[in-house]
Amino acid sequence: MTHPPSPLSRRGILAGAASLAGTGVAMSAGAPQARADSQNRPRNAVIFRDVRPLGAPNPVDLTVVDGRITRDRAPMGAKVIEGGGRIALPALVDAHIHPDKSTWGGSWVSRKAANTIADFAAQDAELFRSQIRPVGERAYGLMAHAVTRGTRAMRAHADIAPAYGLTCVEGVGQARERLKHALDVQIVAFPQHGVVRAPGTAALLKEAARNGIVDVIGGIDPISFDRAMDKQLDLVFDLADRYGVGVDIHLHDRGETGLMVLRGIIDRTRALSLQGRVTVSHVFCLPGLSDTELAETAEDLGNLDIALTTVAPSESLVLPIAKLREHGVRVGLGSDGVRDSWSPFGNADMLHRAHLLGWITDVRLDKELAACYEAVAHGGADVLRLPRADLSPGSPADFVLMRAECLPQVVVDMPARDMVVHGGRVVARDGELI
Ligand SMILES: [Zn+2]
Repeated sequence: MTHPPSPLSRRGILAGAASLAGTGVAMSAGAPQARADSQNRPRNAVIFRDVRPLGAPNPVDLTVVDGRITRDRAPMGAKVIEGGGRIALPALVDAHIHPDKSTWGGSWVSRKAANTIADFAAQDAELFRSQIRPVGERAYGLMAHAVTRGTRAMRAHADIAPAYGLTCVEGVGQARERLKHALDVQIVAFPQHGVVRAPGTAALLKEAARNGIVDVIGGIDPISFDRAMDKQLDLVFDLADRYGVGVDIHLHDRGETGLMVLRGIIDRTRALSLQGRVTVSHVFCLPGLSDTELAETAEDLGNLDIALTTVAPSESLVLPIAKLREHGVRVGLGSDGVRDSWSPFGNADMLHRAHLLGWITDVRLDKELAACYEAVAHGGADVLRLPRADLSPGSPADFVLMRAECLPQVVVDMPARDMVVHGGRVVARDGELI
């Protein structure tokens, strides 16, 4: 499967990543380093001494030059950081989170009963008005916390609706700027109140896409919530086509309604040649399909390189990740809402999400536990079109150091993240952002 250049690289966060996404092949560090050497620029080198990559029994020294793992000898004067025999595992990716809605770090909020998306969305707006801290502060608090738990990148959905204007999108943008040394962030303009049912939203989506303040345009249940499937999908896909942004649509509908929307997304991706630029989140209509139906749908998704995300909500609603991957479908995991009006739960800890994936799918074997971790770390990187941080030579030096024996045990025990490294730089230590 080949991948077209990512439209998302205009922010710079994905530069050079497009040809690697989904392949698991590490980028060669040769060319950029050689160029740096020929100009006699000092290379930024760090040795992480006495660490065990992926749980290897014997500790080694892990050398990082200019943000990437290398097999070469470290240049003279390299900084040395002691790893103390800790396990080194790939940093994690949150492929679906809503930092703008969160009350993380603030006072406890007592939630009221809600049954429909409209109820929840109304409570979002109420909570938004009641919070003293602006979106940028709340989002920063949650995103910084995610970094301390080992998250290297996230796709952040931010509400866009007449009730907020561009405030949520801009707030998450401010948090992204403050954390740019530690976290790669894609922002989705998410029409939580509907594209068609909330007049004024379409104009805001257009403004966000045109101004380049978002990387992706979102959508939500075009049939059951917006009650205007063609209108919503046409509008969202037209913006993606016109402004070179991605698409990421929340699809909660099950059964035939969900499949009808999915077919609408597949058709438009094909018609506009948006292969590799479209994601569908949740996709509760897929897990209930027969093997034959699932294989047919997965074939279409794989051929058009449409990515999916899941939050591993339950055994019956989690996406069949292994089967989808057989057809080349990129699948990532996410936190979704964290301590917001929708739910008191959530913690933006993607190791916990890997644990939940293993728990709800009742895994038992070491290779199954390891696959849960890899789905979060590498599946998420694939969805965001980042090179995988698999600790191989040339890969980004994004890893987490923990006191643990092996990867399967880490998924079960969720040990403290003693050190989080992003681009070869220690960005968090003992749960605190540096
Ligand atoms: Zn969501």
